[in-house]
Amino acid sequence: MTDTRDTVILGSGCAGLTAAVYTARAGLNPLVLEGHEPGGQLSITTLVENFPGFPDGIQGPELIENIKKQAARFGAVYQMAHLKSVDLYAHPFRLHTSAGEVAARTLIVASGASARWLGLPSEQALIGHGVSSCATCDGFFFRGKEVAVVGGGDTAMEEALFLTRFATKVTILHRRESFRASKIMLERAIAHPTIELRTNTVVKEVLGVEKKDVEGLRLRDVVTGNEDTLAVGGLFLGIGHEPNAKMFSGQIDLDGEGYIRTTNNVFTTRNGVVVPGVFACGDVQDRRYRQAITAAGSGCMAALEVEKFLEEHGR
Ligand code: NAP
Repeated sequence: MTDTRDTVILGSGCAGLTAAVYTARAGLNPLVLEGHEPGGQLSITTLVENFPGFPDGIQGPELIENIKKQAARFGAVYQMAHLKSVDLYAHPFRLHTSAGEVAARTLIVASGASARWLGLPSEQALIGHGVSSCATCDGFFFRGKEVAVVGGGDTAMEEALFLTRFATKVTILHRRESFRASKIMLERAIAHPTIELRTNTVVKEVLGVEKKDVEGLRLRDVVTGNEDTLAVGGLFLGIGHEPNAKMFSGQIDLDGEGYIRTTNNVFTTRNGVVVPGVFACGDVQDRRYRQAITAAGSGCMAALEVEKFLEEHGR
């Protein structure tokens, strides 16, 4: 067991790193556990055009690296580790991580959300062999190929637009008629000559399991019930995210979809009663806004509550 830390921040996305800037600047030497997706969702995106302060936009990974350096300048410490289990009943809290045990007076949960999969056995078998949930990570490998993107939200539009840099054709497959994507993103996708949108369509099977390489998709039109095959060399999922909060089940309140319930923005609860010293911020507790700037804002709030808690309860 190491010394008890004033604060441990779980997650190094926009929320966690903003909390790190604030707590570090307050002299609390935060330990940031980087988790299994260091940098969070911004680290696997391209140009971020709506984060205030960057008139020409900024690349997601660059924005993350900047916040990371900013927090490090004030004393934030980073560790590549993920949380295995936690005991929030005892204080200081005990965190069992892949790098050992840590004790903390306060905890900021900023563990974000991870990409969702369709759950088809053929899809799971071909992850890394033509099936991907990250166009910006893997798009390069699909130069000269035709690919498909599943989803009807901004992520699917963004992935499809990014993939046009490499793929000869991108087909967006959406299960409904109307789209969840913002007007501007949808219009860009519709206007792009390399993108085709196909609605009311679901993927029944990814073809190519025997060859260990995606060869096509078996699709079903949900209105007519007709099935057909689309020949593609890659399948990208852009169907939303799952909150990374399973390890807190039984420790703090989660909602029906597994997001951390918060009250007064960042306070966690157990059976509806505030758990002192445990705060949650960013996408792990936000199913509504899910923006980089709102994640950063809630990271700031969590950090300020940590400062207040330590002031009131002594360090
Ligand atoms: P989302 O808005 O929740 O959209 C998910 C899409 O995937 C929906 O169209 C949904 O269909 C579909 N879907 C979900 N599960 C499915 C399944 N099992 N099979 C087939 N389709 C499925 O998620 P998101 O696109 O990741 O966006 C999340 C948030 O991030 C939004 O607030 C978005 O604005 C933001 N975002 C912004 C940008 C940007 O501004 N550049 C980029 C990315 C994300 P239904 O519509 O039928 O439910």
